[in-house]
Amino acid sequence: MTLEEKTGKNYISHSAMSTWLNCGWSFYLTRIQKIQENPSYWLVGGKSLHEGTEIYDALEPGAAFDSRAVFEQRWAENYKLADNGMPFRAGGKKTTAYPNKEDARWWLDNGPKMLDFWVQFRETSGYTIYELPDGAKAVETELNTEVGGVSMKGFLDRLMVSPEGELIVVDIKTSSKAPVTYTQLGTYAILTEKTMGIRPVKGAYWMARTGELTEPVELDHYTENRLATHVKGFKIAVDNNIFIPQPGFMCGTCSVNHACYAVKGKNSHLYPELGETDE
Ligand code: SF4
Repeated sequence: MTLEEKTGKNYISHSAMSTWLNCGWSFYLTRIQKIQENPSYWLVGGKSLHEGTEIYDALEPGAAFDSRAVFEQRWAENYKLADNGMPFRAGGKKTTAYPNKEDARWWLDNGPKMLDFWVQFRETSGYTIYELPDGAKAVETELNTEVGGVSMKGFLDRLMVSPEGELIVVDIKTSSKAPVTYTQLGTYAILTEKTMGIRPVKGAYWMARTGELTEPVELDHYTENRLATHVKGFKIAVDNNIFIPQPGFMCGTCSVNHACYAVKGKNSHLYPELGETDE
């Protein structure tokens, strides 16, 4: 079977590759077997924050904006969509104020503050949103292109212009720590260059919990040739059923641990072993 027949998608995304790199078995269970996943508060919160920032960025300058009302409205909608009857996963640590870790109450307390931080960042940082050739703002821009003969798709949170006039790839993160690598930003810089013919020189993460942008870093070393090697390797792995479990610290919050044999998930016997099917 081809990648498209296995995953239902005829393209590769950064998120698919990073899921596979973190744990091949999680990729197999979620993207190929498509088994039901435990929802999480952090995905509902992250989606609601992203949508809130998009709503803000679509407004005319100076228009009224109520961060709490917008976040709560997006949260209610996204929570309903995510609720599949399975228990929600909470991130973070237990605290006196939040003994159930970062649950719905934590997100409804903190999500609006994150959205307020975005408003402040937009109003005071000097960073502006790049305007695309058709006059639209570069917000959640869909990037479709081919790399190494393989179709790739990405959604770029923001393409921004720094106060110094540099073009910067910005990804919004609600995690407490910024990613240790810039691979995602480098990948988007390549996809932007191939799609739009302009190369962002730097990339940074906007950290929603603090409202701060990480120091923008140069992305020159992320080249199309290097990305092509990785994408082609990933495709070979999927085509050849290379899905190796990576049991470790992530298993506790993994959305499919109930179905994973590597951690003796209670439902793991329901899913075929590789080799039992033609997948
Ligand atoms: S429980 Fe651990 S080993 Fe199993 S799929 Fe999830 S991350 Fe991978």
